[in-house]
Amino acid sequence: ANDRGLRLSGGGVSVTGVLICFQDVTEVQQLDQMRRDFVANVSHELRTPLTAILGFVETLQGPARGDPAASDRFLSIMATEASRMNRLVGDLLSLSRVEEVSRMRPMDPVDLDQVIRSVLQNLSTVASEAGCALVYERARAEATVPGDADQLLQVITNLVENAVKYGGAGTTVTVTLEDTDEGVGVRKRGYALAVSDDGPGIDNSHIARLTERFYRIDSHRSREMGGTGLGLAIVKHIVNRHRGRMQIDSVFGKGSVFRVLIPAD
Ligand code: ADP
Repeated sequence: ANDRGLRLSGGGVSVTGVLICFQDVTEVQQLDQMRRDFVANVSHELRTPLTAILGFVETLQGPARGDPAASDRFLSIMATEASRMNRLVGDLLSLSRVEEVSRMRPMDPVDLDQVIRSVLQNLSTVASEAGCALVYERARAEATVPGDADQLLQVITNLVENAVKYGGAGTTVTVTLEDTDEGVGVRKRGYALAVSDDGPGIDNSHIARLTERFYRIDSHRSREMGGTGLGLAIVKHIVNRHRGRMQIDSVFGKGSVFRVLIPAD
């Protein structure tokens, strides 16, 4: 029989078997659409700063040539736009790294308390420049999970950075670390790490989509704040990789709580 399940006998053809191939076309089409949307989004996100940079290069080569004040201003805008592209490429690389199963690193014991301390230290200047207070409330001295320290650092960094960025002056960001037996599957033992803010809050209609790549509530504000729209997508992937869960609770006008539950073993 050939690969179509047909047997060729003499001059005629007799069917001896039929191979039926079922394929979930909808799923394939959806994946294909997602890939196309992603490529379109990335191209758009890269093109916006690139167009600005090219525009200013032309101005510097033409009308602004020999005007030091204008040159300084344009160069500083170009630097901002180039950093935006740099951040986007960095976030895209992070996302592809956490999505790529084959490059998974072995899970080492990671002390969440230490990771939180590092993040708060790293972000202390950014927070104080934004006029935002950082508070750490710890219900336990030691909390070790199997994981990847760099990736967990990125989870907490992204959540605290968002809280500072969208909250801003006069707000407080509180990080808490507690035991939990909730949402950590059959293992029944784990830690709940929460980043709470008393910032603007998020309307409930947006919450389910926040972890989608490039989903922003207010694109203009996100870009202005240096956001790439990938932060929470990266968080979600890393949390999944640690067999954890993420919960988002928010009251519009009052603040938000991003909780990450991670199994302890
Ligand atoms: P971005 O790079 O735009 O910050 P994220 O994926 O990190 O992308 O977040 C997606 C969107 O969720 C943001 O654009 C913002 O609108 C909203 N968001 C995230 N964290 C907060 C927060 N703590 N308070 C209010 N809005 C938030």
